[in-house]
Amino acid sequence: MGTKIDKFVRSRRRTLALIVESDGSLTVRAPMRAALAEIESFVRDHLEWIERTRERMRLTPVVPQKRFMDGEKFHFLGSEYELRIVHSQRPALKFNGGFSLSRGAQQRGRAVFERWYKSQAARILTEHVERLANQWGYEPRQVRITSARTRWGSCSPDGTLNFSWRLVQVPLEVIDYVVQHELAHLRIRSHSRRFWKLVERHCPDFRLRRKWLREFGDKFGM
Ligand SMILES: [Zn+2]
Repeated sequence: MGTKIDKFVRSRRRTLALIVESDGSLTVRAPMRAALAEIESFVRDHLEWIERTRERMRLTPVVPQKRFMDGEKFHFLGSEYELRIVHSQRPALKFNGGFSLSRGAQQRGRAVFERWYKSQAARILTEHVERLANQWGYEPRQVRITSARTRWGSCSPDGTLNFSWRLVQVPLEVIDYVVQHELAHLRIRSHSRRFWKLVERHCPDFRLRRKWLREFGDKFGM
């Protein structure tokens, strides 16, 4: 049979409808008089669509919206730090074992934080790439910081390594794995067995770090 219906609603509508909710559960809306067998066969006919939709939702993480309020928590290199709203300071956002933000900049908090994360990402990722490229004999062309939401890193055909600024929110070991992964793509483009062997040579416990990213990565949007 396949999938289970989590919520079933009959109403005065004329057609059957399937809704995949943001948590992946399935709601079926049906006309008052639709027969149960008809509903079941409708769901069966759409199993593939349901799975595809769920898959797409998994790739588009639901991230709680930040409000840039006093006491809110922000991640940096795997730790959580509290935000304090202060009267006025320059620059508007400072990090010193915790974040402080000028009251006057709260409205544009998202842009201010993003700029800060991007500058940290540029510093941290460039440093990492340089060190590891030297160690393993790679020659990346350049490091670019992107705002990608669903890809932590990628490797362009010209040898540019791209990393999302969001990556600096996760622990250093995980950043390290993403860097090693993209560096390995300079040698092997595809995710073939040879590729994973190479990643393993660079980073013997990469599976744990990759698992971490798959399990918790969704939380690090903004
Ligand atoms: Zn890859």
